[in-house]
Amino acid sequence: MKGRLPFEILYEDADVIVIDKPAGLLATHTHLHGRAARESQATAENFLNDYVRKGQSKSRKRVWLVHRLDRETSGVMMFAKSEEMADAFRSNWSALTEKTYLARVEGSPTGDAGVFESWLREDADGYRVRSVRPKTPGAKPARTEWRRLSSSGGATLVEVKLRTGRKNQIRVHFSEAGHPVAGDVKYGARRAERLYLHSRELRFMNPRTGEWRTVAADPPEPKFGIIPEADGKRYGMKTHAILLAAAAALAALATGCRTVPVTGRSQLMLSSDASEREMGATAYSEYKSQTKPSRDSSQQALLARVGAAVSEAAGDTGFAWEFTVLQSDEVNAFCLPGGKVAVYTGIMPKFSSEAELACVVAHEVGHAIARHGGERMSWTRLQAVGTLGLSLAGCGDMVQQIYGIGTQYGILLPYSRSHESEADLIGLYLMAKAGYDPRAAVTFWKKFGSGASSKLGELASTHPCDATRVKNLSDHMPEALEIYGRCEKKRGLGVAMSGGRPSS
Ligand SMILES: [Zn+2]
Repeated sequence: MKGRLPFEILYEDADVIVIDKPAGLLATHTHLHGRAARESQATAENFLNDYVRKGQSKSRKRVWLVHRLDRETSGVMMFAKSEEMADAFRSNWSALTEKTYLARVEGSPTGDAGVFESWLREDADGYRVRSVRPKTPGAKPARTEWRRLSSSGGATLVEVKLRTGRKNQIRVHFSEAGHPVAGDVKYGARRAERLYLHSRELRFMNPRTGEWRTVAADPPEPKFGIIPEADGKRYGMKTHAILLAAAAALAALATGCRTVPVTGRSQLMLSSDASEREMGATAYSEYKSQTKPSRDSSQQALLARVGAAVSEAAGDTGFAWEFTVLQSDEVNAFCLPGGKVAVYTGIMPKFSSEAELACVVAHEVGHAIARHGGERMSWTRLQAVGTLGLSLAGCGDMVQQIYGIGTQYGILLPYSRSHESEADLIGLYLMAKAGYDPRAAVTFWKKFGSGASSKLGELASTHPCDATRVKNLSDHMPEALEIYGRCEKKRGLGVAMSGGRPSS
């Protein structure tokens, strides 16, 4: 098991390795007894064990299997680098991952898209899998979503999405529907050059960092069956399309950078400030038509005052700031691109002073002026441009950053951890500049406990108030206090609050 790897490593970090497994290579050992026999077998797992040991035969390093990929199936496959990581993936597989396959199936399934759902169970001899009655002992539920890409010559190219990863799942489901995967003799297909099933894309969240990543690989066969014009654009592997996509993305990279105010981090920015502001304003007015503003004028007045102070501290942003308390029991606050800040009535009773409210408002303003929403949209757009995993690997930090965070979040969904700490830092300085005692940020986050036991509900789920958060804030307190010291109009903690209202 020494020497060059017989496959490409698509992605690697401290926790996982993702490879492009060739068809015909076993993922892991089969039923061999004895360690020596297992370790001498040519499997992706053994090749990777050798790879992580870097030729040191005494090294105890190894990789762990986290999902299956049949021997005849090619494409993206992930291994974990530690047992803990493997366990985390295995026990939360459907929440942490999404797999997309390409399959060429015989005939033409009815409709342009569909879902196969059944309970699957292995035969007693372990050779075949079949659908059985729901809840049959030993059976597991499986769901296969498919979409037609093109049909011709008695075969159809389908894209398949899986959240469950049962043995032979795609092959069984299509076979039972009367359209076995081309070349899948075991499940009733005619013999062909290969089994036409390819794991094309894996989207996964690293359970340690919370960051989403997408890794993709095209099938080795230039056509993988049948690809007329329209789909060739997306699936015409190793053709002009991918080169064009890569070129477009590189051009975007060359021009699409921006520096975040305060922290000076350079970020990917493909959307214009103006279009973001427009989207933010539209989304906000739609949102407000469903979630009404609070009719408590003392709450609105207090937020207006805090918002004015904080947004003034933010300087000339060109935003049309709006600060509104919205009627909702959710313990949360958000900011849409362009400066639309909303604080829910549900979080108001958590504040014991105006300065604590300012801490949350300044954090949201921090997201807005750092244009985290636009940055997220830029990733989405870049990913839509093409599959970059292979073509751009090696282009350095920027690509790492692009793939560093998933792109499926909607506008109100959580930001990444790095965006959160950046918003914290910007927020801390802003509240100090606005004249609020920045130490209130630490007391605010500290008083709710941490982790699952946090009393902050939804806010804690998107804004983990753990030791790291408090430490970051404390680490930057000297600068914040210096800013505060220079502020002419100090407000201290502002008015005291109780029950969600100013108490004086
Ligand atoms: Zn946040």
